[in-house]
Amino acid sequence: MPTNSELYARRNAAVARGVGHVTPLFADRAENAEVWDVEGKRYVDFAGGIGVLNTGHRNPAVMEAALAQMARFTHTCFQVMLYEPYIELAERLNKLVPISGPVKSLFLSTGAEATENSIKIARAATGRAAVIALTGSFHGRTWLAMSLTGKVVPYRKPFGAGFPDIWHIPMPIPHYGTTTEDALKQLAFLFRADVDPSRVAAIIVEPVQGEGGFYEVPADLMRALRRICDENGIVLIADEVQTGFGRTGKMFAMEHYDVEPDVICVAKSLAGGFPLSGVVGRAPIMDAAEPGGLGGTYAGNPVACAAALAVLDAIERDGLIERSNRIGARIKARLEACAKRNDVVPMVAIRGRGSMIAFDIVKARGGAEPDADATRLVVKRAYENGLILLSCGVFGNGIRILVPLTASDAVIDEGVDILEKALAAN
Ligand code: PMP
Repeated sequence: MPTNSELYARRNAAVARGVGHVTPLFADRAENAEVWDVEGKRYVDFAGGIGVLNTGHRNPAVMEAALAQMARFTHTCFQVMLYEPYIELAERLNKLVPISGPVKSLFLSTGAEATENSIKIARAATGRAAVIALTGSFHGRTWLAMSLTGKVVPYRKPFGAGFPDIWHIPMPIPHYGTTTEDALKQLAFLFRADVDPSRVAAIIVEPVQGEGGFYEVPADLMRALRRICDENGIVLIADEVQTGFGRTGKMFAMEHYDVEPDVICVAKSLAGGFPLSGVVGRAPIMDAAEPGGLGGTYAGNPVACAAALAVLDAIERDGLIERSNRIGARIKARLEACAKRNDVVPMVAIRGRGSMIAFDIVKARGGAEPDADATRLVVKRAYENGLILLSCGVFGNGIRILVPLTASDAVIDEGVDILEKALAAN
């Protein structure tokens, strides 16, 4: 079998530069929270394919459901011939989401398609165009999703003007000096200077920002956004693409709040490694678009829907929401102890709910000046020592943990041991 570096040379010759990589490693096989590269080296996986594998690599029940569906048919296009797994998944998600009253769903393939479609639906439902998002947010790489994304480098900079009528207000991050008050003040400025609230179709928020650094929208801001949406007929959309399916210690992160969104975007861990996303929301809003306006050739693929049904069963049967809380507490305790040592890089703001855990690396102990270089080095040392790890954050100095919720304590401890070694100062 070719080596990682031989394959990487071929990658450089054949694949566009704009696709970035966390590691230079090529996967050979994977199981639950472990992955082996093409050279036979084993890694503990704290990335889960960027939050896709809450139920682990090749979860046996998910594989069985997908294989059974594959033996029957793999594609008809839901718009040509319908199939029951799509309907059953919609029925189950409609009941699971923290939205009261009648709820309906739509399935797609990627997270970006989910956020794009949520905006299309909100526009159809309100007859309005404008959309408000938060700085530091990540909603995908297609044009509309990219325009919602509140981070210029690397997601937007070379790609020209964004989609019109999209506005950003600051995401409160106490550690870096932004507050709920700042966000609401900016929103009031926006309503006075640029866009009247009666022109706004939707406000879209990640309850906990994923790529943006695992910072959560404060409860008072979420409450204020809900009130502003109610007062002005605006649709409140929660992008739960990264936070969903047990990651934050609840099925959906919006369950941590005392207000409901109108629409929720789901993807990633929904189908345990198969490409599937969805938009789930209040029925009158979801029904606003005319037949033919929503969908896609591969949208709601039957194999992915069958896998997703098995994912939902696994979360329930294996108690993965409770497990998410236990994993998070275990990792947080280790990180808090580690941060007190003076032979590691300066770690601050250890945070997170459930097992959506992160911390930041800064230049000086107790300070707030981000150290992206040290963070990159920690990620590199981690994979060199057998741990796949992701960074995050608008300053590139967050380390985030997205370990499968099915991982054993032994594998989690092994991963944290490697992380601690990677954090050791030079
Ligand atoms: N929204 C959020 C919150 C995400 O984390 C992501 C992916 N990181 C997306 C949307 C986009 O998903 P995809 O890459 O599947 O298009």
